[in-house]
Amino acid sequence: MCFNGETMKITFLGTGGGRFTTISQKRMTGGFRIDDINGKNYHIDPGPGALVRSYQFGIKPTTLNGVFVSHAHTDHYTDVEVLIEAMTRGMTRENGVIIGSRSVFKGFKQWGPCISNYHRGKSDKLVLDPNKTKTVDGIKIKGTKTIHGDPTCVGFQMQANGLAISYTSDTKYFDKLHEYHKDADILIGSVIRPGTKSIKGHMCSGNFAKLVKEVNPKIAIMTHFGFKMLSENPANEAKYVQKKSGIRTIAAFDGMKLEIDDKNRNKVKIIKMKNKFAKNNQNLNHSINNDSNDKQTVLNSNNNQNTFIKDFSYKHENKKK
Ligand SMILES: [Zn+2]
Ligand SMILES: [Zn+2]
Repeated sequence: MCFNGETMKITFLGTGGGRFTTISQKRMTGGFRIDDINGKNYHIDPGPGALVRSYQFGIKPTTLNGVFVSHAHTDHYTDVEVLIEAMTRGMTRENGVIIGSRSVFKGFKQWGPCISNYHRGKSDKLVLDPNKTKTVDGIKIKGTKTIHGDPTCVGFQMQANGLAISYTSDTKYFDKLHEYHKDADILIGSVIRPGTKSIKGHMCSGNFAKLVKEVNPKIAIMTHFGFKMLSENPANEAKYVQKKSGIRTIAAFDGMKLEIDDKNRNKVKIIKMKNKFAKNNQNLNHSINNDSNDKQTVLNSNNNQNTFIKDFSYKHENKKK
């Protein structure tokens, strides 16, 4: 069910992840927004640039009802305080909810805290732990376990009107990871590395393919790409995951906006995939409204991404695997 007839949207304000992608801005690092989930808008993991990228992609930070920070690494939290200021109209009114890991609020060992007492003052606060479910604005939010550098790092599954969006945040693959994300309709994964070689505390494409197969969502989305992933081709990695898992898989690109038909949980589909950069480039524009054409859809999105990468002069070496 849609709220006020608005379609749920997911907009990627950055698809880069890890230290080196972040400090070089090879890809943007603003996290993503979920808009019109039960009529509410959430910013997820607002790394460097989240505020600026919101405006760049036509989204108003002042319309936020909540921010979510999964852990105390810079690529996930640096813009959170300024977004809280937007959410509370410059800290002049009580509004919204701040959701995050223990480290984000209280600090844990050398990690965090990430939000000043001042910025916590006008919003509800919700510390999320794995397997704990809280209801906010009619949305069920469950924490999901991670194994990552910040030991309190937490992913989530948000459920509203029968539709579930799951986000792994940064984590290594582990045997029970899929149990935390089961029943996801849309699975968003931080996949920092290409191929089958992961690094500590993170997933590679091979790990994600396994997870996608186990979770069996309607759609899987890869994001949070590290340097090595970007020097390969995330779109090809998504094809690989799709082939291995049998589930439609998309490599997110900066500015990618998905409009999701959430009226029928059994038929989740992307109504449109837009690239805000595409205004002057016909090749980048396409809309998706066809369930039966999944393969082509993914190919389109991949072409889209290739063109995008070229346009922005990303170094794109075709290394042999
Ligand atoms: Zn990260
Ligand atoms: Zn991290």
